[in-house]
Amino acid sequence: MSIDWEGMKSAARDAREHAYAPYSSFRVGAAVLANGRVFAGCNVENASFPVGICAERNAIAAAVAAGCRDLAAVVVMGPRPVAPCGMCRQALAEFNPRAAVLIAGADEGADLETTLDALLPQPFLPPSLKK
Ligand SMILES: [Zn+2]
Repeated sequence: MSIDWEGMKSAARDAREHAYAPYSSFRVGAAVLANGRVFAGCNVENASFPVGICAERNAIAAAVAAGCRDLAAVVVMGPRPVAPCGMCRQALAEFNPRAAVLIAGADEGADLETTLDALLPQPFLPPSLKK
């Protein structure tokens, strides 16, 4: 399957414009490709810091809310290329531990194409979720 990385990057870039990051000023957008559709998310911080949520988890939540759980690819876009945090790696692995991942920067840096299993080789997956 060929992945429209440019289209996904555009969705991540658009979502990043809406990031709510008044504390860190570190704006991140993400896009996931699930069931052939693209869903985007941005980071949403909170005054109670642990309540904040990353762009990647907001994007996969949007996909799941639309009934699309067949994750194929993920784009993460910070100001510079930044890999998903550990929590997001685990959250994404639930839906496809071998998803393609593109790490991109909105302002600087070269794209890095990788896979979720390279980023998280041994995700926690109960036997019922082994794929
Ligand atoms: Zn994260």
